Amino acid sequence: MPHPGCTKSPCADVYAGRRPAEKVSCLGLINRDLGLAYMIDTTPDFPAQLRALTGGAPPDGIFLTHAHIGHYTGLMYLGKEAMATKGVPVYGTERMNAFLKDNGPWNLLVENGYVALRALEPDVAIELPGGLRITPMLVPHRDEFTDTVGFLIEGPRAKALFIPDIDKWEKWNRSLRELANEVDYLLVDGTFASMDELPGRDISQVPHPLMSETRAFLEDTRAKLWFIHLNHSNPALVDGKDVGREGMAFGL
Ligand SMILES: [Zn+2]
Ligand SMILES: [Zn+2]
Repeated sequence: MPHPGCTKSPCADVYAGRRPAEKVSCLGLINRDLGLAYMIDTTPDFPAQLRALTGGAPPDGIFLTHAHIGHYTGLMYLGKEAMATKGVPVYGTERMNAFLKDNGPWNLLVENGYVALRALEPDVAIELPGGLRITPMLVPHRDEFTDTVGFLIEGPRAKALFIPDIDKWEKWNRSLRELANEVDYLLVDGTFASMDELPGRDISQVPHPLMSETRAFLEDTRAKLWFIHLNHSNPALVDGKDVGREGMAFGL
């Protein structure tokens, strides 16, 4: 937010200089003891988010959820026109990696060695140094280019579930409720608060759980809920409860 072409509040307030912009949803994973930093999704806000995460050094690894533009196009900054990184490990599912290998301009990142693709298998944990584990879970989503995953992130002391995009919790082969009793933090799809947020467009073509539906599923569960990935149309972006904000940190 601001959303291109939007003339309503809060986008208009940003354009008028009355409030700060909000960045695209992105998660960093930091091991301060070992000096390692990973990024989950590379967004159009990659330059500022990399600066916040590492001060500007390339991340030690990137984990991608899917190939919708808010989630991977920040990879462009790793290429020849910008950082020209050396073999940054990029973890994606088979379809995600094939999409990057087989389509320009992303294929040049792979062919020139700016990134090194690493395979993610659904439900198979990647063990990171220092006792961190990250496990991709397939989720139902509009899969035009690739499949879509969320991530279970486990540290020595706590666990988090990160699902920025999912069509509907009912369409998932797992129970959000059960997971909410197994993890400590839920960082989940808060795209829309209500069905009337896309005037002139058919919102059923952009399926997401409404925030109220997600809250209903999670009643009396253990995990602390944070909504992320809010659309500019969502009033919770301005004053909502349980909304993830830039700079928040969670101990694992
Ligand atoms: Zn998506
Ligand atoms: Zn998305």
